[in-house]
Amino acid sequence: QKNTSIFYLIKLINYISVVKENLLNTSIDYLKGVGPNRAEILKKEFNIFTYKDLLNFFPFRYIDRTKFYNINEIQKSNADVQIIGKFTEIYYFKNIKSNRLIGTFNDGNSTIDIVWFKGAKWIEKSIKLNTDYVLYGKPNWYLNNFSIAHPELDLVSEFNKKQVKGLLPIYSSNERVLSRGITNKFFREVIYNILNNSLGCFKENLSKEINEKYSLISKYQAFKNIHFPTNQQLLSKAEFRLKYEEFFYLQLEFLMSNISKKSKFKGFNFSKVGNSFNEFYNSHLSFSLTNAQKKVIKEIRKDFSSNAQMNRLLQGDVGSGKTIVALLSSLIAIDNDFQVCFLAPTEILAQQHYNSLNDSLKKINIHVSILTGSSSKKDRIKLFSDLINGKINILVGTHAVLEDNVRFKNLGFVIIDEQHKFGVAQRSKLWKKNINPPHVLVMTATPIPRTLAMTVYGDLDISIIDELPPGRKTVKTVHRSDKNRLEIFKFLKDEIKKGRQVYIVYPLIEESKKMDYKDLMDGYESISREFPNNKYQLSILHGRMKSEDKAIEMKRFKEGKTDIMVSTTVIEVGVNIPNASVMVIESSEKFGLSQLHQLRGRVGRGSENSYCVLMTSNKLSSDARKRIKTMTSTNDGFKVAEVDMEIRGPGNLLGTQQSGLLNLKIANIITDKEILESARNDVKVIVSNDQKLIKVENKLIKEEYNNKTKNTLLWKHIS
Ligand code: ADP
Ligand code: MG
Repeated sequence: QKNTSIFYLIKLINYISVVKENLLNTSIDYLKGVGPNRAEILKKEFNIFTYKDLLNFFPFRYIDRTKFYNINEIQKSNADVQIIGKFTEIYYFKNIKSNRLIGTFNDGNSTIDIVWFKGAKWIEKSIKLNTDYVLYGKPNWYLNNFSIAHPELDLVSEFNKKQVKGLLPIYSSNERVLSRGITNKFFREVIYNILNNSLGCFKENLSKEINEKYSLISKYQAFKNIHFPTNQQLLSKAEFRLKYEEFFYLQLEFLMSNISKKSKFKGFNFSKVGNSFNEFYNSHLSFSLTNAQKKVIKEIRKDFSSNAQMNRLLQGDVGSGKTIVALLSSLIAIDNDFQVCFLAPTEILAQQHYNSLNDSLKKINIHVSILTGSSSKKDRIKLFSDLINGKINILVGTHAVLEDNVRFKNLGFVIIDEQHKFGVAQRSKLWKKNINPPHVLVMTATPIPRTLAMTVYGDLDISIIDELPPGRKTVKTVHRSDKNRLEIFKFLKDEIKKGRQVYIVYPLIEESKKMDYKDLMDGYESISREFPNNKYQLSILHGRMKSEDKAIEMKRFKEGKTDIMVSTTVIEVGVNIPNASVMVIESSEKFGLSQLHQLRGRVGRGSENSYCVLMTSNKLSSDARKRIKTMTSTNDGFKVAEVDMEIRGPGNLLGTQQSGLLNLKIANIITDKEILESARNDVKVIVSNDQKLIKVENKLIKEEYNNKTKNTLLWKHIS
């Protein structure tokens, strides 16, 4: 008997909680004060469909409404003031220019004029004389007097009810919504109403342990205090909780999809390290690996023999030696009878990788081939048959290798160099080239900030080479302008006399290819005058040249037959010519930071002192100034990347569009990176102890996770 009543009681409680939860999913059409017109525009402008969406429409700033001013305290420096007082009279003031309504507002000691230029009729009717109001607005100083135009007004009785006290939320807005009466006041009222009726509708979604670890406030309190914080401390607590939660679930999704990928896709097992690897490592490697390189190779080897598909991101500064890591890993694949595909973003780079791999590997009888957009039909026919017969061990190439007619005998390992130029859809094509997806190693061109890596590439495992090969000198970087030109020419001549080579780079910006091409040509001409061809040899390189011509110019420069390479940014990525010691970047204010760092990375590859000269015009925007200053003050690519993200914002960095990063509602990966790190670490611990989230203590997390991932897109399953 007792048991059955408890049973029904529990059922009832469950039922109530379901009903309550559903309240938050109610459409805003049914919300008091909204109505069909406003509902329509809220949906259209802000994607607000339900009560929950409204609660998740966070204020973007707050106004301190804790302070009340006396009228005689008002200063010109006050951006806005809040006063309690009464209207003692209200009248129209007319002259030739205008017709406005003026109210005399009295705080008990002094008075101030309140002015309305619009909506006077309605205001005149609705204002109650000699009744206490809270007035809020921006004071104007005009003809030796303060006045306030179009203030916000609340009857004191209403004001107390509405909780406008404390920090007042300000919501984003635009003309279209304002014209329908969707003001701050509107948001405050509807959100306040929802919060008032929804106590108990919020389901907790983090574990007890996490709640305790960070002394998190409850979910309801978090929403209440993000919209209506009574003080700064509570606002901070609310922000922390909501940001933490946002990062937590983003990371959870990444790690879980990583795990599911691993269990879903069986990886090829490269169990042995065989002859090719050993022979090359012991007899043909001309330097010893840095500890960082060794560490990364160990990480890759571990993945290779884990029976799961590897998806690893290799980060390392320019010149840190990522290529040799890729090469040695490839040899392991080859020792296990698999083929390797090495993808590069440009033809020049593909050619360079091909040349150096081929040089290194023909000694140990490894067959390397190259396929690019400009490979001839005849070459292709032979290449396709060698590939499917397994004669080719490593295929180096550009996008051309993604095409369906490129078929391998047994593709096992894919390396993507300078990854950001490959889209997800393209990468997914590689997966289909064997029965199991190949292991994937993605190498970044320049470092990206840790926080960004964790979010954008959150579902990849990350390896970092945080050490440069020994003996590398930092590239001395200076900022110069036109008036220094002669001094620079002299410096270049001195370097060339010493046997060094020089790059001079002109910007190439997509939208204005024509004009920049002209810049390059003009530049080339003036350089030819300064460096006449009876004494100096010049190379030129730009995107409009045929690829054979490009290759010839590169070769001449590489072999030291030319002294100066005048080029656009086609040489940006990966080009390796150790004898080049000076990089002059023209109009460097037009380049982004990571590009500048990449370009600078073209020098400082040998044992000589190297230099980077950043030429700019005299007028610089503050962002450009910051970029140049960053370049002259550090050589550390990870630091450069941090500043880059600060200046551009994460949304403008490549890859972020796919990451869900842009859907972050409150957390910010730049300013909240500590919270991100904490959340990621917590998620890691939870997932490593409970991969399927089946433990009781993770029940709430699992439920929320399932909810959130119902609509996850397919891209997450592609590395
Ligand atoms: P990135 O990481 O920018 O792709 P690379 O792989 O092109 O750098 O390497 C840059 C240069 O450093 C190459 O000339 C390479 O041979 C050399 N290098 C790589 N590792 C070492 C090492 N451990 N010791 C000495 N030189 C190295
Ligand atoms: Mg490289």
